[in-house]
Amino acid sequence: MKAVRLTAINAPLEQQQIDAPSVGPNDVLIRVRAAGICHSDAHYRASVSPVARLPLTLGHEVAGVVEGIGNGVENFKSGDRVCVHYLVTCGTCAFCRAGNEQFCATAQMIGKDRDGGYAELIAVPERSLFHLPAEISFEEGAILMCSSATSLHALNKARLRAGETVAVFGVGGLGVSAIQIALYLGAAKVFAVDINPEKLRLAARSGAVPVNATERDPVAQLREMTRGAGVDVALELVGLPLTMRQAVQSLGKLGRAALVGLTQETFEIAPYGELLNKEAEIIGVSDHRAREIPLLLELARSRKLDLSHGIIRTIPLEAAAVNTTLDDLEHFGDDVRVVILL
Ligand SMILES: [Zn+2]
Ligand SMILES: [Zn+2]
Repeated sequence: MKAVRLTAINAPLEQQQIDAPSVGPNDVLIRVRAAGICHSDAHYRASVSPVARLPLTLGHEVAGVVEGIGNGVENFKSGDRVCVHYLVTCGTCAFCRAGNEQFCATAQMIGKDRDGGYAELIAVPERSLFHLPAEISFEEGAILMCSSATSLHALNKARLRAGETVAVFGVGGLGVSAIQIALYLGAAKVFAVDINPEKLRLAARSGAVPVNATERDPVAQLREMTRGAGVDVALELVGLPLTMRQAVQSLGKLGRAALVGLTQETFEIAPYGELLNKEAEIIGVSDHRAREIPLLLELARSRKLDLSHGIIRTIPLEAAAVNTTLDDLEHFGDDVRVVILL
């Protein structure tokens, strides 16, 4: 089968012809119909976050159709539309049993620790699969499973309550989902901070109040827009020390900043004025929980979370197109989400 693979760190991905994956008794073989390209994939290529082995097929945002099943598979059959939860976990350890499977000691991330979805076929354990409702396209199903899932998890970690204000730093795939999900959860107002006018327009269409960080200090703008109070919840989705600091600075009393963007760099805060005095909190967010996915699928099915307009650009399964997309992601280009469509 055809696959687009990482063969060397910091080098372009290569198209290769490889064997179809083997299917264990509890595995489901999926014909990939859509595979999202994520900022994390650029991090894997650059080894900001190292993959388990090379060569490796990237791609952790996968939706497709069941092509075959192992003997022990009970809930899926050939022809079913499915989307993939990107962590393959043991299901029995304390973390898995508590539903915090992102900390499972044996967890393997699809497209990082084992071959992913930039390929015609992928095999994953039944435990990692969800049925994809007919109302949701494959490309939406793919990105729901990473960017939207992470946004929901970040809002859950930040304990957003109805009536609160939210600032979203970074209007990419995560930001667009975060805006819509925050509004669904009852946020009184969602502010979206970005420097890209196209993305600010998209944020406004998604229901947010756009805050252009190139015009003036976004923290000052957010203070004015909240009559000096600051926001209750800030989500940092960019992964830059500057925006992390701004997210914390924009908080009001008892505010919570959830940091989602990846960086190896450090950032500074002034403990008394920016954190202690307000009893503000900085919360780390990693991945999401499988148990959060059914709500997401329902939101997408009912169009409360709408990713269909102007958010997704599709490309074929070809190394050149994938590499160009990864380059754009590294440079924070205009695209919100690019999905390989097969
Ligand atoms: Zn992703
Ligand atoms: Zn486990």
